Amino acid sequence: MRQKIVAGNWKMNNDLSQTEALLTKLKKATKTSDSEVVVAPSFTNLWHAFEALRLSDIEVAAQNMHYAEKGAFTGEVSAKMLRSIGVGTVILGHSERRAYFNETDALLAKKVDAALNENMRVIFCFGEELKDRQAGNQENIVASQIKNALFHLKSSQWKHIILAYEPVWAIGTGETASPEQAQDMHAFIRSLLRDNYSDALADNTSILYGGSVKPDNAKEIFSKPDVDGGLIGGASLNAKDFFAIVNAF
Ligand code: PEP
Repeated sequence: MRQKIVAGNWKMNNDLSQTEALLTKLKKATKTSDSEVVVAPSFTNLWHAFEALRLSDIEVAAQNMHYAEKGAFTGEVSAKMLRSIGVGTVILGHSERRAYFNETDALLAKKVDAALNENMRVIFCFGEELKDRQAGNQENIVASQIKNALFHLKSSQWKHIILAYEPVWAIGTGETASPEQAQDMHAFIRSLLRDNYSDALADNTSILYGGSVKPDNAKEIFSKPDVDGGLIGGASLNAKDFFAIVNAF
């Protein structure tokens, strides 16, 4: 059985006091679903969030990391550093990292390897742009993003990989992929895993959907058989909305 997961990507939002306020509300929230809950604050608040959530069942993830173990990379943070404060999950390949920080599939492959070397879990994001979907090219784009960054991995390493399909045209736009569009793409991704690895690996890999998931559309999206949860941006900044999504399973 694959794990259901709802992860909140806070992006570059929330200073320390706002983080404290949101964490306090999250700790009080009631979970009625069996999905795992993950939150990803900014680097400056990771340690604080990890400590605050230590006794809860909410996991803390980083939003990014560098591929090198250490060295002259001013402004960067390594997997080892994240591990040293207890953070065991990292989001890699978010479309904002790809678009604004020129992250390529080749770079992401190196980051994935670095995270796995430190026994971290990776939430790996990918997805097509609007022009790709309008041209009917979405499956080719998604297949190449996944192949280029992940298909060098051994089967045994995939237990640390969570996939997050995030059509770029749906992120932060209020525009959501229809539940059918999400299901079609998730089924396609699972077939890629089946063809290139095995039935077992395809069946056990969690594939999250991301792109304007809100309390009022989460239930329908999560009801699709190949959608195993969500990566939530905007709505994860509000504890009530985020837990309404968590409990939509
Ligand atoms: C995201 O940034 O991963 C995301 C899905 O954002 P939003 O939910 O705001 O569209």
